Amino acid sequence: MAEERIISPSELSEDNQAGLRPASLEEFVGQEAIKKNLAVFIAAARQRQEPLDHVLLSGPPGLGKTTLASIIAREMGSSIHITSGPAIERPGDLAGILTNLQPGDVLFIDEIHRLSRAVEEVLYPSMEDFCLDIVLDKGPAARSIRLQINPFTMIGATTRVGAVTAPLRDRFGVINRLEFYTPEELEQIITRSARILEIKVSPDGAREVARRSRGTPRIANRLLRRIRDFAQVEGDGSVSLETARVALDRLEVDSKGLDSSDRRLLITIIEKFDGGPVGIETLSAAISEEATTIEDVYEPYLLQLGYLSRTPRGRMLTPAGYKHMGFDPYAGTLWDGQQKE
Ligand code: ADP
Repeated sequence: MAEERIISPSELSEDNQAGLRPASLEEFVGQEAIKKNLAVFIAAARQRQEPLDHVLLSGPPGLGKTTLASIIAREMGSSIHITSGPAIERPGDLAGILTNLQPGDVLFIDEIHRLSRAVEEVLYPSMEDFCLDIVLDKGPAARSIRLQINPFTMIGATTRVGAVTAPLRDRFGVINRLEFYTPEELEQIITRSARILEIKVSPDGAREVARRSRGTPRIANRLLRRIRDFAQVEGDGSVSLETARVALDRLEVDSKGLDSSDRRLLITIIEKFDGGPVGIETLSAAISEEATTIEDVYEPYLLQLGYLSRTPRGRMLTPAGYKHMGFDPYAGTLWDGQQKE
């Protein structure tokens, strides 16, 4: 299961990110274009003494959506209220949250694509006009009253922007997609985290962890903690290139940051489906993993590495994917790339 993987980008209870979360845009590494624009929008809103326009952040888990939302709140000088799509079950739950907001507060809704239709309906007027339509009584006596709520900034986060309904998406003034981090950016994040956690890391050790962190800060921080355990028990406590390599191999995280679950997915496509194309549901059944987990957690990075491609007929392994798994991509094909009979 994804939750148990050392390289799971989802938050685990042991992660305790508190001390590691950057507190300002300046401290937040990478995502330069997004940061620059946000800095302008924040400054402009502050000058006008208005809340910031609603912001939608999308991208794979662990890339910093929650962190950015907290930074925005802090830079606006306001408080943040954190909840998630599945946690808001009924329209009444949302009404309760909205009526408790102070002027300028930030409401952060994680997994916003999982809000129910009924809750979304309540959200529209609140985002647009800062008001709440409440229906009193039922049947012929039903009437609705409009309640004014304090102006606020909604920050929505989602791993699948395609699943956010169009009317909801249209109500966000700022829409940003977070990208995977480069190894150089991850190296900076690891060096910063090591300083905070008081772990000694050599530059080439940090680079090695960065290369194997799937472009994801949350994974980089987690690997750093695990490697420290190895360094402490089996070494001299500091993380060198050698310690990092040995520990990552022991954790079964390969040179590109793939773990046994990723490799199982790739091998299954090669061995059971002849390299694809294979439909997501079929693949999900073959490796006993939910289709949404494959789409949200495994695939984005495999696509980014260019090991997997999405075609209208399903997922296919690329020649680079074959090679990474130690297979000859052209075995079984003729020179012009056509399949042998
Ligand atoms: P998401 O909400 O996208 O799942 P988070 O905001 O919870 O991701 O980020 C996961 C962790 O990764 C944070 O606690 C933080 O320590 C670290 N992190 C994320 N983005 C950055 C960044 N740009 N610079 C430094 N650390 C980061």
